[in-house]
Amino acid sequence: MDNKEAEKVHCLIIGSGPAGYTAAIYAARANMKPILYTGKEPGGQLTITNDVENYPGYPDGVMGPEMMEHFRKQAERFGTEVRYEMIEKVDFSGEQKRVWSETGHEIIADAVIISTGASARWLGLESETKLMNKGVSACAVCDGFFFRGKEVIIVGAGDTAAEEATYLAKLCSKVHMLVRRDEMRASKIMQQRVLDTENIEIYWNTETEEVLGEEEVIGARVKNNKTGEESIINASAFFVAIGHKPNTWIFEDYLDMDDAKYLITQPDSTKTNVEGVFASGDAQDNVYRQAVTAAGTGCMAALDAERYLAAKGII
Ligand code: NDP
Repeated sequence: MDNKEAEKVHCLIIGSGPAGYTAAIYAARANMKPILYTGKEPGGQLTITNDVENYPGYPDGVMGPEMMEHFRKQAERFGTEVRYEMIEKVDFSGEQKRVWSETGHEIIADAVIISTGASARWLGLESETKLMNKGVSACAVCDGFFFRGKEVIIVGAGDTAAEEATYLAKLCSKVHMLVRRDEMRASKIMQQRVLDTENIEIYWNTETEEVLGEEEVIGARVKNNKTGEESIINASAFFVAIGHKPNTWIFEDYLDMDDAKYLITQPDSTKTNVEGVFASGDAQDNVYRQAVTAAGTGCMAALDAERYLAAKGII
């Protein structure tokens, strides 16, 4: 695209979850005139959850989509321009960052804040999609509380699954843990914790055939992939903990990432390896992954960007 057509902005924010909107609130109030591209899921992962009860400031809880509306309005109130489009391509090779939206619109930004988040991986079953938010969840910390005293299922065998299984075991009467192989990928210490927890039952070599229920989860039909034997497990919730995928592929040519493609930021900072590009939220965090921690790093990214622009004499 011809450079003459490119739009110049001080601060471009990519992504519209808690990290992106918090960055926008701070950037707008610092007179950085931010433009925020929402991506294809405006509001991010919280828009596919129901009640959020662990975000401070909402004593009675709040629906995830409603909370993200609050974030958006607050960002707009201070002058953030929100655009409901995807960013599809970037070029971070020069001092000024070049970015293209899905319509081919080119933006030249002095600073870029990345808050593109991560997406939970799902099994891909039709019944899983049908019962999403009706007992199917990818976040035990968010939704486990709704099933306290009940039996629940969790799928996965990595550190997340192990951690979430032990978390759920404290709330729920029983946790049925489905592991597709005859061993777990989780670290030894996490595995031991699972094995030592009395109300976690592990089903080795077990895969899910169907999540059962019409209006809410009532269990799952599972199959032992060694013996071919099918069985039904009765449970009120079905947690999927088979990993997340950070939405970072468009940055692959420019930004340092770990093996799982999470962006690497410098310690105690949101700076990436490219000057003027900052990363916040789940796109750079595979440990905490909470709305409140994402918002915290969004704030940090805006402050880092502001200092960067001020040092350059741009704002
Ligand atoms: P992982 O990729 O480590 O593990 C995913 C798990 O899900 C694997 O056991 C995998 O099985 C299983 N799985 C994948 N697809 C399916 C499927 N279709 N059906 C059934 N099971 C499936 O993801 P995590 O989210 O657990 O962890 C991501 C990273 O974060 C890791 O590096 C982990 O160590 C780290 N982490 C660290 C924590 C900590 O230190 N406290 C806490 C949480 C995460 P299989 O093994 O057969 O491939």
